[in-house]
Amino acid sequence: LAKQQGRNTYRFHTHALTRAAAERLSLETRLRHGLDRGEFLLHYQPLVDATTGKALGVEALVRWQPPGEDLVPPGRFIPLTEETGLIVRLGAFVLRAACMQAQAWREQGLALGTVAVNLSARQFMDDGLVEEVKTALAISGLPPHCLELELTESLLMEQAPRTIATLSALKQLGLRLAIDDFGTGYSSLAYIKRFSIDKLKIDQSFVRSLERSADDKAIVATIVAMARTLRLEVLAEGVETDAQASILASLGCVEHQGYLYARPLPPAELETWLRSHGR
Ligand code: C2E
Ligand code: MG
Ligand code: MG
Ligand code: MG
Repeated sequence: LAKQQGRNTYRFHTHALTRAAAERLSLETRLRHGLDRGEFLLHYQPLVDATTGKALGVEALVRWQPPGEDLVPPGRFIPLTEETGLIVRLGAFVLRAACMQAQAWREQGLALGTVAVNLSARQFMDDGLVEEVKTALAISGLPPHCLELELTESLLMEQAPRTIATLSALKQLGLRLAIDDFGTGYSSLAYIKRFSIDKLKIDQSFVRSLERSADDKAIVATIVAMARTLRLEVLAEGVETDAQASILASLGCVEHQGYLYARPLPPAELETWLRSHGR
């Protein structure tokens, strides 16, 4: 009996694995076609100065629109594009589209500040990244200081000479570097100093529990103090309530991003928002 059960279990697993693999492959194929057919687009979420309510910048956040289906959020496809290397093509699209949109807004006289673009580790390791960033700036005409690249802490943990060389090549283009989801990884002060980072974005997990957790409040206070010491900008992600906003302000963090101010918006809606919140 045991043997039989074992066999059934084995067969069940084989079946499940095969199905998972098939689903993965079909998603990969659909993503590949989606890239060929231009099914990806960007939404933009404002980064706000809480003391004035004005925009400091916007973050470009990618979405996938398969024809006739609901809009797909990045959490559902970015991981697979990273595993398969498709992120390199997708990332190049995002860079160009974000720079071109930002420059178009600037030319319309909209004061949007910087445009932030997320870079995944896999994209960062690609040989063509620095050239790709240069191209995006060149074809859009966006001044480099208006572009901010968001990196993850895990990427900075790679002490490879390559990482250091890429970061300094990017910095030499004149753009800005931010660390995304700060506090969730293990980056050391030395790295932050060494890589000429401009901004820390405090992860939303700390902001979410600010009202309840004295620990998280202390962590945020520590990050803010550290940012001040290193003369870095510091922004809080995922600000949803007035209470969170005022606690953050009392801790000295006045750059906010979150649903309290605006959700990520399609370009036309972001434009409307900017007309009343531009600097
Ligand atoms: P992220 O870069 O940390 O972006 C912030 C995420 O938090 C966004 O989710 C945004 O919609 C969400 N968010 C903003 N304000 C609030 C809030 O008040 N409350 C809550 N609960 N959430 C808020 P989204 O757009 O689903 O993106 C998820 C992640 O996907 C991003 O996290 C980023 O890591 C990745 N991603 C998005 N676009 C790109 C891209 O173009 N390239 C790469 N490599 N990754 C991307
Ligand atoms: Mg980000
Ligand atoms: Mg983040
Ligand atoms: Mg995040």
